[in-house]
Amino acid sequence: MINIQNYDKNNVFAKILRKEIPSDKIYEDDFVYAFKDISAQAPTHILVIPKEPFCSFNDFYEKANDQTILNMIRTIGKITKKLNLEDGYRIITNVGKHGGQEVPHLHFHILGGESIGPLVATKN
Ligand code: AMP
Repeated sequence: MINIQNYDKNNVFAKILRKEIPSDKIYEDDFVYAFKDISAQAPTHILVIPKEPFCSFNDFYEKANDQTILNMIRTIGKITKKLNLEDGYRIITNVGKHGGQEVPHLHFHILGGESIGPLVATKN
């Protein structure tokens, strides 16, 4: 199970930020990096991450300063505009075990390009 209490400097997104492993960049500024998800679940599936080391949304809302939070939200908006998702999109951030978080560096999924379907997978 991933640890979202203490930041793991060797998680895959930390390695992407350090350019130790490749990624398909969509957007970058001094604070935010966005790239294509390696296992796209929709025609457009982008991950947006802060450059600062936050483990999850919990870490972010507790520790990030207000300007960083504001900037992240605005930047996600700007990225969606750049992606031309006129018919809509979904933003998701998974937290911890019940959220299904796999990578312990805060990330927002942007999914679009087709109808994304039900909010939660149907249980059998
Ligand atoms: P989550 O389950 O919310 O933690 O999502 C992690 C996402 O990271 C998954 O959708 C993976 O497909 C994606 N992912 C994992 N490794 C990479 C990588 N090297 N480059 C791009 N996306 C990745």
